[in-house]
Amino acid sequence: MSAYLLTAPAKINLYLEILGDRPDGFHELVMVMQTIDLCDRIEVRQNRSGEINLYCQHPEVPLTENNIAYRAAQLMMGQFADIYGEIAGGVDITIEKNIPVAAGLAGGSTDGAAVLVGLNLLWDLGLTQPELQELAAALGSDVPFCIGGGTAIATGRGEILDPITDLDGIPIVLAKYRNIAVSTPWAYQTYREQFGNGYIRDAAGWQTRMKQLHSGGLIQAIQKQDRQAIAKELYNDLEKVVLPAFPKVQQLRDCFANHGAIGTMMSGSGPSVFAICESRDQAEALKHQVAQELNDADLELWVTQIASPGIQAEIR
Ligand code: ATP
Repeated sequence: MSAYLLTAPAKINLYLEILGDRPDGFHELVMVMQTIDLCDRIEVRQNRSGEINLYCQHPEVPLTENNIAYRAAQLMMGQFADIYGEIAGGVDITIEKNIPVAAGLAGGSTDGAAVLVGLNLLWDLGLTQPELQELAAALGSDVPFCIGGGTAIATGRGEILDPITDLDGIPIVLAKYRNIAVSTPWAYQTYREQFGNGYIRDAAGWQTRMKQLHSGGLIQAIQKQDRQAIAKELYNDLEKVVLPAFPKVQQLRDCFANHGAIGTMMSGSGPSVFAICESRDQAEALKHQVAQELNDADLELWVTQIASPGIQAEIR
């Protein structure tokens, strides 16, 4: 086959707790990650030039080595060119960007995951999902999750995954201000400055928190597919630094709550905010009410849903 089309979904965090500082400089996290049905589309096409060519129309997406999709292709070429050099050649990568950029939705990570999956197929490498996830961890903390998607507890930097019962079909409204972007390193660094004194310092303490999450209300609610209970258990430590710095994001979250969302939370390092709804009709009505009340041309709103598939591939 000479080309594949990958569907690469965004994620939200149903839970994000920062436990402490790791020796490698990252934060130790405990999260519940969830795939949603808002997707980029990525084509990977064989070329014979030996080059990686990247195409994307979105003005905020870099077309350089800074693009995680580019780095994913570099990684695969570096790993497999010796064995598969002749067939590997080069690759043209075209990204149709639908996931908002720098939004806390793992938009870059899912593109990177898609390229790993796509090149595995294009070059017929036969790598298993765990093998792809191991490569993915070198690209970024969220990339391993993006490969398989679904609902998972993520620990470590976010790369250690424990899949749980998949949630499916719960309607959400997602919102983001076009003119607000939050840098993930800034959010974590600011959190460290403000809350670092309260960090859990030892690995045994981290284990205790992870076990508490495993046996706690959110995981039980997910197992029962009880959306009311899930909505009550949403949590994100990064709201403590992002909401005070971006009052419009706080206002957006308040607006969702005031108009009957059963639960609302910022995703990841923000600034996107999601609202869990009882039905698609309620989600459509909520989107309309929030758009009307905030009346801001920079505010983008989507009705979408919680979904289970990770990267999906089809032959071009
Ligand atoms: P995460 O939730 O994984 O922290 P995010 O959703 O907050 O990520 P991204 O959309 O991945 O953020 O964008 C963060 C930065 O990464 C952007 O400012 C952009 O410069 C860069 N970037 C690199 N590759 C991509 C890509 N394929 N798509 C979007 N942004 C990318």
